[in-house]
Amino acid sequence: MQEYIIAGMGVLVVVIVATTAWVAIARSRKRKPAGGNSKLASSLRDEQTKNSIILNSIDDGVVLIDEQGVIQLFNPGASAITGWKREEAQGLDWRSVFNFVDSRNEAVPENKLPFARAQAGSQPVRDNSANLVTKSGNTIATSFSVSPVLNGNQLTGLVGVFRDVSQERKEESQRAEFISTASHEMRTPVAAIEGYLSLALNEKVATVDSRAKDYLGKAHASTKHLGELFQDLLTSAKAEDGRLPNHPEVVEMGQFMEQLTSDLHFAAQKKNLALEFIIGNSEVIDATDSAPAAGQKIVRPLYYVQVDPDRLREVVTNLFDNACKYTDSGKITLGLTGNDAVAQMYIRDTGHGIPPEDIPHLFQKFYRVDNSATRTVGGTGLGLFISRKIIELYQGRIWVESTLGKGSTFYINLPRLSTQQAQAKISQQAQTDAQNPMLVTPDELPVSTTAAASASASTAAIPTENIS
Ligand code: ADP
Repeated sequence: MQEYIIAGMGVLVVVIVATTAWVAIARSRKRKPAGGNSKLASSLRDEQTKNSIILNSIDDGVVLIDEQGVIQLFNPGASAITGWKREEAQGLDWRSVFNFVDSRNEAVPENKLPFARAQAGSQPVRDNSANLVTKSGNTIATSFSVSPVLNGNQLTGLVGVFRDVSQERKEESQRAEFISTASHEMRTPVAAIEGYLSLALNEKVATVDSRAKDYLGKAHASTKHLGELFQDLLTSAKAEDGRLPNHPEVVEMGQFMEQLTSDLHFAAQKKNLALEFIIGNSEVIDATDSAPAAGQKIVRPLYYVQVDPDRLREVVTNLFDNACKYTDSGKITLGLTGNDAVAQMYIRDTGHGIPPEDIPHLFQKFYRVDNSATRTVGGTGLGLFISRKIIELYQGRIWVESTLGKGSTFYINLPRLSTQQAQAKISQQAQTDAQNPMLVTPDELPVSTTAAASASASTAAIPTENIS
């Protein structure tokens, strides 16, 4: 966190220096030749000297782009990182110098690039995972921060500050590798201990006195927690370096959520919490009796998305488990809504709620709210981090709205497929599966095409509340 603040402050200083340098250059161009106000001229010269000392000495790359997209300033740091000499880069369009690729080495679409995003939104953009292709064709991991230069509301240019973060990425990946190997190795003995403790507690196979039983019960609960921690550590390490098993397919969210709700209702019942599933903005399906009566026909919009159902189940189950854990009484609502572009799921509870100051940190690794209401509830602080990583894998977004003492709602937005897109992908998948029959497992069968066909008439009136 501290590193981010320091890096953020550094970027801010450089942006100010670069902007001042540009303004000074612009002013000096407009300035009348010597003989005018010589004091002003010398103070501007001083200012320019200081700015150029800073820009020439820092390791970070600094680039200044005018409103036409032409590079006006390219410091030595930028040359060292990109391999482009200043005199080559200055005067060129930024697109000729800054080529970005994704993790599969494919060109990133222009509207996703930090410069284009900052220009389009007139907002600062930070991208810590940009892969830049240098002049000689090497790909290096970089971190970019691009700030718009505004004159009132008018965008007059962009200042980009960037760093080579290859070393940090390498270290991060080594750390993740270590955590992943260690937790994988430790899970096995922990599972064995948990198994033996269960046997010791089983009256049919072991005899222990009541005091020993109490101790063994506590040891069993802690071992179970340790096993969960190792499992979460392993999953989070995999999520970080993109090794989570991921087999996306077309999923109809209504069917998926309805099934999941009925699988989850026992856990809610155990805590005496009501559970309901709402589809659209009106149809409430009681989780304990979700099958429509014979002859009854429910017409509802179909929400198709392309995800790995196992991964999505992990996310919804985790949010649901949290809702149960942090709710003492009332109800949990699972909901599904959307518009043409987005399918939105939500998990709402009537629980403790989350303090506003904790909300921005909630999806970070190991973050747990530390207050009297939550301290006694066990957890690892990894569930929401893993959930965010999974949802981002599918270009989705996850966030929470909460009122302390009243409850929380976690939202997930996923890109929605139209019925035509869903059908096209389903038949494409069927063709691939037919060509490779050995690859099809019962779990991977696509959803039925008859369900897809019945969707067309019902997608018109989709509520759009809470879509963002
Ligand atoms: P944990 O294993 O601690 O539950 P998570 O990453 O799933 O880890 O959640 C992080 C923290 O967010 C929790 O420790 C809890 O303080 C808070 N939190 C998550 N979900 C809820 C909820 N539905 N209501 C209140 N607090 C929640």
